[in-house]
Amino acid sequence: MSYSAFRLLREALTGNRGWRPAWRDPDPQADYDVVIVGGGGHGLATAHYLARDHGPLRIAVLEKGWIGGGNVGRNTTIIRSNYLLPGNTPFYELSLKLWEGLEQDVNFNAMVSQRGVLNLCHTDAQRDAYRRRGNAMRLAGVDAEMLDAKGVRAMYPWLNHDDARFPIKGGLLQRRGGTVRHDAVAWGYARAADRRGVDIIQNCAVTGFRIARGGVEGVETTRGFIRAGKVGVAVAGNTSRVMAQAGLRLPIESHVLQAFVTEGLKPLVDGVITFGAGHFYISQSDKGGLVFGGDIDGYNSYAQRGNLPVVEDVAEGGMALMPAIGRARLLRMWGGVMDMSMDGSPIIDRTPVAGLYLNAGWCYGGFKATPASGFCFAHLLARDAPHPVAQAFRLDRFARGAVIDEKGAGAQPNLH
Ligand SMILES: Cc1cc2nc3c(=O)[nH]c(=O)nc-3n(C[C@H](O)[C@H](O)[C@H](O)COP(=O)(O)OP(=O)(O)OC[C@H]3O[C@@H](n4cnc5c(N)ncnc54)[C@H](O)[C@@H]3O)c2cc1C
Repeated sequence: MSYSAFRLLREALTGNRGWRPAWRDPDPQADYDVVIVGGGGHGLATAHYLARDHGPLRIAVLEKGWIGGGNVGRNTTIIRSNYLLPGNTPFYELSLKLWEGLEQDVNFNAMVSQRGVLNLCHTDAQRDAYRRRGNAMRLAGVDAEMLDAKGVRAMYPWLNHDDARFPIKGGLLQRRGGTVRHDAVAWGYARAADRRGVDIIQNCAVTGFRIARGGVEGVETTRGFIRAGKVGVAVAGNTSRVMAQAGLRLPIESHVLQAFVTEGLKPLVDGVITFGAGHFYISQSDKGGLVFGGDIDGYNSYAQRGNLPVVEDVAEGGMALMPAIGRARLLRMWGGVMDMSMDGSPIIDRTPVAGLYLNAGWCYGGFKATPASGFCFAHLLARDAPHPVAQAFRLDRFARGAVIDEKGAGAQPNLH
């Protein structure tokens, strides 16, 4: 059943009796060619591209909760490809290109909105660093524009431009960046994968791996043992716990990141803005709520809820950047568990266990990566070799000293 304007009209005229569930609810089979652990954005995207480009394969996605219940449905929806380092730029640019064609590809309205992402700078040194990043992006064929203070003022006159402490000196603008409705991404990929025969099995937690002679034979789950030729793990904030079941200790820490949304307001913020003097980023949803976030919580946790000091910190950032936000009432807030890697960049690689593959380390920027992550992980699972744009995301780079430290912050996960 394809979604289209014609279909909408037909259903409207016939009492909406023709709609079917967007994906099936199958029982797990005894064995699959590929089992993907984690039904978040990355796991579902992987299943879609595996089935689309590398089939025919018998594929299952195992999700311990429900589709969209993890970070894919909890993030602040920002997409962009404004990276500096060669290890990252081609990967995130591929992701942005896949976002641009996603809705046609999966036949689902994900509300991809290229409304522009503006990173503000507040010191001369920061302006130089942004100019350097913009130049690197343009050399790599990615769109970037440097705005001066006047340019930013013309775009967003209501920002706190002349704050003596944090004067706005300009900004790096990527017009092709923007937002995508997060849970629609999970639903769109789930439906598209299901239509290609992938079994999406919810309420099925992986509790262990069966490993013999150095290779994986399948997964133990709350719904019994499932044999698998290959197993791909994409469980984001739960990575260290799940991979520990296979005896692997990873350079990843889990921290909570919180997000906030206000009551619906008239249109004010028509793009995405990031504050350069603190950790604060904001956009406005199509329903009118201001959607914003800030830093991760300082301590390790697997709980999907945050703490009050970070709420205060985020609110302070918001007030410094746009004092008008003090008049808005907060409607909701929530938390998600982030898989923070030691250099702030992801891992898409084989593991020392034959047949077991890892997709992790997304920190708090993994939503924008969803399409390319699925595309490259599918490539790795099918061909046993990294996709050219994900070649740098190797697990052994931490041992080799070949880290991809985009911010130059060192092995401090909370600073990435
Ligand atoms: C508040 C917040 C704001 C964010 N903002 C942005 C943003 O603006 N832009 C951006 O690019 N990124 C953002 N992110 C990061 C982004 O959401 C994540 O990096 C990304 O969604 C992680 O990948 P995923 O979608 O596959 O994760 P998830 O949706 O968390 O998927 C992992 C799944 O694995 C399942 N799982 C765990 N353990 C098991 C098990 N044992 N068996 C089976 N299943 C299991 C979980 O239930 C979960 O559904 C944000 C995150 C948060 C929390």
